[in-house]
Amino acid sequence: MKSLNDEKIWLSPPHIGEKERAYVEEAFDQNWVAPAGPHLKRFESSIKQYFNVGAVAALSSGTAALHLALINLGVSQGDYVLTQSLTFSASANPIRYLGAEPVFIDSEYDTWNLDPDVLEEAILDLKEKGIKPKAIIGVDLYGMPAKWVEIQNIAMKYDIPLIEDSAEAAGSTYMGKYCGTFGRMAVLSFNGNKIITTSGGGALLSNDWHIIEHARFLSTQAKDNAAHYQHSHIGYNYRMSNICAGIGCGQMEVLDNRVRRRREIFDFYFDTFKDTDGISLLVEPYGHYSNRWLTAILVDPEKTDGITREHLRLALESRNIESRPLWKPLHLQPVFENHLFYGSNVSQSLFENGLCLPSGSAMTDEQLGKIVSIIRKVLNNGAGELVHKVK
Ligand SMILES: *Cc1c(COP(=O)(O)O)cnc(C)c1O
Repeated sequence: MKSLNDEKIWLSPPHIGEKERAYVEEAFDQNWVAPAGPHLKRFESSIKQYFNVGAVAALSSGTAALHLALINLGVSQGDYVLTQSLTFSASANPIRYLGAEPVFIDSEYDTWNLDPDVLEEAILDLKEKGIKPKAIIGVDLYGMPAKWVEIQNIAMKYDIPLIEDSAEAAGSTYMGKYCGTFGRMAVLSFNGNKIITTSGGGALLSNDWHIIEHARFLSTQAKDNAAHYQHSHIGYNYRMSNICAGIGCGQMEVLDNRVRRRREIFDFYFDTFKDTDGISLLVEPYGHYSNRWLTAILVDPEKTDGITREHLRLALESRNIESRPLWKPLHLQPVFENHLFYGSNVSQSLFENGLCLPSGSAMTDEQLGKIVSIIRKVLNNGAGELVHKVK
């Protein structure tokens, strides 16, 4: 038998509550095993209530939600869309689905999100080239809210619609308002690794009821109102299933608990490393309340005797513990290498020095203790010995 010591510690595994199974069973009992049914409505209204937003469409993924958001703005072939470079590829892929050009913007050190100054610089430079971007996609990376007031002001000043990619930030707030409510539309993800999950799924949020109604129409194959199948739009099969929505209903009930535990985990890492030379963590600027989806550390090898984030990652891996570098900036990805980038090397340096540590809300204090003791040991013993041991 495997002992607890050998059990893999994942970065951010699903954490299911007590009700999810019952909701799913209810769907089976009523034969609502379909992309329609009572749980879908219920899940949507619980999101609407929690986020205090006008309307919500539950969809098959966060990526689908972003795709529909861009379609709503009329983004098409040859258009330009500004987005954060330091993020998951799904923040930019839907731009390419539509044949449009992503323009990547660097991050700032305060939040690791869109640098408002660079954003404005990019808009002005594009303006000189005769280009007006069709949209701005901002991200709340790892749950940390972006500087939405500044970003909204820029979006308004230049009359460019704003989309909030809040896939990682359910439960985070900025100036007392939930992430997922900034911008004309916002996107949530309920993928298996996110703070709450429906196994796979997402949602599009907006205060504009018409936008959401139309997204729902497009997400169910754009069927016109007729007895036969009549179509005057290109449709998509992007609706969430009633089964997944059942899981979502249960997960919404525990969202606040999940945020509390993730924040506790961040605090534990923070307290552990706050006096350690060369290790730093992202603190919340004024008005920013993060769900702390993932806790990441920055490792400065000049202050750790040459220990890099990769040394730490390999040491954790050798003990069956998953950790990951930060998202590799999209402007450095082969698939996006021919697109514009504005900024300096902030996102690149965050990527090179950052490591996301296991942050799952079901993690025990014992597991947390094990993780930090491995990191401490590597930091105390130096890189030379470690490389020898890991290889
Ligand atoms: C997860 C994620 C997405 C995509 O969501 P899916 O539900 O996996 O399609 C988009 N943007 C960011 C920043 C994400 O982390």
